[in-house]
Formats: sequence, structure tokens, C-alpha cells
Amino acid sequence: MIFRKCLIANRGEIAVRIIRACRELGIQSAAVYSEVDAHALHVQQADEVYLIGAASPAESYLNIDKMIAVARAAGCDCVHPGYGFLSENADFAAAATASGLTWVGPSADAMRAMGSKTAARTLMQQAGVPVVPGFQREDADDEAFVAAAANIGYPILVKAAGGGGGKGMRVVQQAQDLPEALASARREAGNAFGDSRVFLEKYIESAHHVEIQVLADTHGGVVHLFERECSSQRRHQKIIEESPSPFLDEVTRAKMGAAAVAAAQAVGYVNAGTVEFIVNSEGAFYFLEMNTRLQVEHPVTEMVTGLDLVKLQFQVAAGDHLPFKQEDISQRGHAIECRLYAEDAANNFLPAVGPLLQFIPPLGPGIRVDTGVQSGDVISIHYDPMIAKIIVYAVDRTAAIQRMRTALSQTVTLGTITNREFLMALLAHPAFASGDVDTHFVDSHLDALIPASSPMSDTALIAAALGDFLRGETSVQPVAGAASTNGDLYSPWSVADSFRLGKR
Ligand code: ADP
Ligand code: ADP
Ligand code: MG
Repeated sequence: MIFRKCLIANRGEIAVRIIRACRELGIQSAAVYSEVDAHALHVQQADEVYLIGAASPAESYLNIDKMIAVARAAGCDCVHPGYGFLSENADFAAAATASGLTWVGPSADAMRAMGSKTAARTLMQQAGVPVVPGFQREDADDEAFVAAAANIGYPILVKAAGGGGGKGMRVVQQAQDLPEALASARREAGNAFGDSRVFLEKYIESAHHVEIQVLADTHGGVVHLFERECSSQRRHQKIIEESPSPFLDEVTRAKMGAAAVAAAQAVGYVNAGTVEFIVNSEGAFYFLEMNTRLQVEHPVTEMVTGLDLVKLQFQVAAGDHLPFKQEDISQRGHAIECRLYAEDAANNFLPAVGPLLQFIPPLGPGIRVDTGVQSGDVISIHYDPMIAKIIVYAVDRTAAIQRMRTALSQTVTLGTITNREFLMALLAHPAFASGDVDTHFVDSHLDALIPASSPMSDTALIAAALGDFLRGETSVQPVAGAASTNGDLYSPWSVADSFRLGKR
């Protein structure tokens, strides 16, 4: 490996994931951290660490100048941006390259070409990749939008050209609501991305979000690593991802793979990226956007292909040829990822910030946990409240669902409310078992998925922890039926019914 030391321009589980790949490749890792992250897992695991500023992302993880200064001072020769934060910032990629660092990702030009959803749509049309019918004229006034929407037909989706994270999107059912939706989408997009341009797409009802992982080297080699099904979404944000998609047939899968490779070739793409498609109930698919980075849900692809995407990112950044051809890559078994969040499903999914007294991730065959936190950490208001990604792998989808339900039932988080029960309810739903979940499913079945009883009180949690501590156990992991084995002591496991583990 030609790289000696890598700047990891991120935090949390993704920083930990990259550090792990660096270690396997013999690359030293230089991590950055903000004032509130001094004891974070990624700081403990990196070879070198650099404080870059206050908690607010603008002063730390979004600060390009500080990142470059650290990379120089540390003597790094490459930078990995992870996902989120600066990962899709072409200016950062350009600044890194100008400072002599290798960017472990696509070129700044490819990032710019795909950075605007409207510019990307135009490029994709030219490359023969189907896009959702829509309207995107820069100089259009509201009247032009209303006229265009009438042509396309309702429902219509207003989207932000610079969008991401589901922001700046409005579904509009009828013409009279369009001007107001345009105004509020522009406001939200302006605040979130500093770019208030919006465009229209036909809103595809009963849709599946299916995305294709691509990987390209600097010698013209481009392959796809099959699909991820990400239709379990709340407010256009992914909750559960899996591969293969239970919805695709072989013909559509092959066509989408080819379209994603064509999309990557159209922008001279190098490194790992994801082409996102929306698929209607008839199996017709349309380009949504390309994410020019590693994706949160990349582990499901790693599980079914047996490949290490982060290591491959370093290899192609170093100028290596892809070590395989398309026909060498296959999808085996079934993988599912759940995003475990510190959030209160019963309270409109409000982030549940505060101390995470105990976090005991599940263990077992076919279970992988990617996390950036550990017991005693504080879930901060400043960052994404994700606690961990729990990924399972099994021989088929039914077995993977069973394994995930078991893994979640054995996941212990004390001190904070999580979406664990919500995830378990979703996995247990007959629609999920049958593979019928479309992008609307979660939002339209929220009542059935939100846990009825409120989570255990803090007092009960502390008593629980204390009870285990007094018993002198080395592990406080409660198991199914813990209430009876704890019978000789006061056991909050038996009183706090909503928390009992292994419950069906
Ligand atoms: P994906 O399709 O990979 O889920 P998202 O667009 O949802 O991509 O964003 C990826 C992740 O990056 C999010 O889950 C979040 O943790 C993080 N993220 C997104 N935007 C920001 C941001 N502005 N600042 C910090 N983290 C962000
Ligand atoms: P973001 O940049 O926020 O990820 P995307 O364009 O990828 O934006 O869309 C996010 C989600 O919104 C999709 O996964 C899908 O659920 C929904 N969505 C986007 N475009 C459409 C559309 N034209 N019709 C129906 N749903 C859509
Ligand atoms: Mg997207």
C-alpha cells in the first residue's frame, strides 16, 4: 500500500470503520475530534488524534481549513471523508488534492457533476439512463411550475436541487397547494444547503427505493456490486436496508446494474459510489441521484458480496486495478441492516440525547455491529443520534429477519430511549416478512409500529443496572426470561414489561 497515513475527516462509527480498514492495510490513522468527542471511540482507536474545535460542526467536522491544517501537520498522504459532513463537498476534495493529499473518493469534478440533482438528471438523460418525469427550468416562475405540474400530473414532488437527507421535499396533491409548497421547500433548502433552487418530479406512489453500489478504478474499470433495498423509510429517510431486494427479479436487477455502471461512466467516476433509483410497482426504474461517497448502509453489500468496500476504496485511490471483474462478483445469502437510534418513536421520533449508561451490543454468528459509542458516552445534541448499525447475515431472507429480531432483542441500551421496539415491530410486521414494504409503508402504518407502552423510567433503568451490579455479574446482559432467574432479588426486568427482552 502506497499510503502511510490517512486523515479521517469524520467522527463516530464511520471513523471507527475507516480506522479498522487502515489498520488492516498498514496505514496509520490520524483522527480529528471536537471538544465534546475527547473520549469518543474513534479517538481511542486512532493512531494519532487532533483536537479541531468546538462541538458545533461548523467549527470542527465541517471546517475544511482545519482539516487540511491537521493533515499537513500530521504528515498525512491521503484523506478519507466518510459519509455526511464534508464527504460530498467538492471544494474539500479539491483543497485536499491541491495540498498534495490523495482523496479517497471520486474526483471533485465527478462530485460537482452529481452534486446538483438537476444537473445530474440532465447528464443521465444524455447517457440514456431513465429519470423520473419532471420539470427543472432555472428561470421558471411559479406560474411556469404550476403549468408544468399540470402536464406531469399530480401528485407532484417538489425537490431541492442541492438536496440531501430528505430536506426540501414536499409532496403536493393538487395545484392550489403548489405555490405554498414551492415557497416552503425553497426556504428549507436555502437554510440547509445554501441553495434554494427547486425542481419537480412526478411523485411515484407505491415506490421502492433500490440503489446500486458501484466501484470504479482509475484505469476505466467499473463494476456494480448489486443492489440494496432501502424502502423502509420514515419521512424519506432510511431505517432498514437489505440486500438482495425482495422486490427485484433477475432481469430488472441486471438492467439496473448496467444503468448504474453507465451512470458512473458518464461522469468518469472513480472509487465507490451509489446510484439511487426509484422503482414503481411495475418494475420500471428511474434515476434519483448519485451519492458520491461511501454510504451508511454499505455493510449489507459487504456481507452479501464478501468484499471490503473501505479497503477497496483505498486500493483504487492508490491507483490499483480493481482486483476482480463483474462476472467474479456474486450476491450470496441475505443481509439486513437496522439503524439503532437514540430517539423516541412515541414522541414524534425526537432525538433522545443524554447519557448512554450501558450499551451492550448483540453478539453471535452472522451479527455485525458498527458503532462509534460505548457505555458511559453521551448522545450529544450536536450530531446524528445514531447509536449503532446492527447488521445480520444469514442464508436467506427469512433466516436474516429471524436473526435480526433475535439480535435486537439482545441489544441493551440503558439510560436513553431508542427506536429498538419500533425496529422490532417493523421486522415483525407481516408486510415486512412478505417483502411488500414500499417507501410509504412506515409513514402510513406508524400507529401499528410505535410501541404502545412508554419506555422504562430512568429510575427503573438505574435500579436495573444496580441490581445487576450488586449481583456481581461481569456482564449485565439480561437474557430472555431474566425475570425468573433474578427471582431472589428485586428485578425491574419483571416490572417494566415494555423492556423485557426476547419478548415476541
Ligand atoms: P445515506 O443514503 O447514506 O443514508 P444520507 O444522505 O441520509 O445518506 O446521509 C448519510 C448520513 O450522513 C446520515 O445518516 C447522517 O448520519 C449523516 N449526515 C448527513 N448530513 C449530515 C450533515 N449535514 N452533518 C452531519 N452528518 C450528516
Ligand atoms: P435525498 O437527497 O434526500 O436522499 P432522494 O432524491 O434520494 O433525496 O430521495 C429520498 C427519498 O424520497 C427516496 O428514497 C424516496 O423514498 C423518496 N422520493 C424521491 N423522489 C421521489 C419520487 N419522484 N417519487 C416518489 N418518491 C420519491
Ligand atoms: Mg438519496
